Amino acid sequence: MKALDKANLDKFVELLSEEFNVYSITDTDFSTDFDNNKALEILKPIKSAKEIVFPQTEPLFKFDLVGKEIVVNEKQNSTNLMLWIKPCDVRGINILKKVFEKDVKDVYFANKLNNTIFVGLACNNPSRNCFCTSVSITPYYKEGMDVFATSVNGAIIFEALTEKGKEVLEKVNSLLRDATKDEVEKAKEIHLQAENKVRRYNFNTSRLTWDSDVWRISEICLSCGICTYLCPTCHCFDIIDENYVYEGERIRIWDSCMYSEYTLQASGHNPRAYRLQRLRNRIMHKFVWFKEMFDEYACTGCGRCVSYCPVNISLIEILGGV
Ligand code: SF4
Ligand code: SF4
Repeated sequence: MKALDKANLDKFVELLSEEFNVYSITDTDFSTDFDNNKALEILKPIKSAKEIVFPQTEPLFKFDLVGKEIVVNEKQNSTNLMLWIKPCDVRGINILKKVFEKDVKDVYFANKLNNTIFVGLACNNPSRNCFCTSVSITPYYKEGMDVFATSVNGAIIFEALTEKGKEVLEKVNSLLRDATKDEVEKAKEIHLQAENKVRRYNFNTSRLTWDSDVWRISEICLSCGICTYLCPTCHCFDIIDENYVYEGERIRIWDSCMYSEYTLQASGHNPRAYRLQRLRNRIMHKFVWFKEMFDEYACTGCGRCVSYCPVNISLIEILGGV
């Protein structure tokens, strides 16, 4: 394993920026404009990392009208490098991958994923609403990362997990040294300490039945959609064409199953007109139907929907977490 002394962090990012669009975590999201030292201290941004591979507003392609012909202009993607992405957010992208690669591969998602390198960072200090260990991951889950890092006192310990990851570490090799045995041991200790800090719940998904009383909590829901926008696994979208005189573009934008218009049909009929129906759909999709389809929950335990729901509707409570 390799180690970077934190005193060299600025140079590390500078070197990486010569080759990649380097994004790092901020308090709110992932950005190319970040504070190097602070980034290591942030547990996770308010917004999840899904935006890198599935942007909130994504121009899919532009088109021009040339005479009577429509000419499509495809975009070229450059390589993004995501620094310090957290285990639950990588898990979210792994879940999205299952959806976007099922049956027909979504080329826009696949291109972005192929053009992104993930340098993940273990969580040292999980928050009150984190519950990743209740949905089968840990604060040191690595699947889907190219490089896995742990912050250990004055250094960051790196483990390359893929060929892309090896190339990234090669690029900054001049700044790295071999990690000491003590540092490697300390990293393992930090992982286990963090895992023990995460609250573990015994969820009871059998209570998620169609006519369960648990859905009555929807009486206070504002249908604001925050829970779906912040969720790393929610993936509903709409597609619109913006047309000008001789040009236009096709745009994909996030949608939310918590909005009443989401299921409104042209006839005026709406199969999920009520908040109860929408909340039930969101939770049953994540914990019942997704599990039936993919044998896992569409939830990473990031706790964002619990932390940021303006009326404190708690997924943990709905699932009977004790
Ligand atoms: S964040 Fe809370 S209030 Fe807003 S739609 Fe979700 S459950 Fe309802
Ligand atoms: S805790 Fe909430 S926001 Fe986070 S993955 Fe699960 S459902 Fe989505």
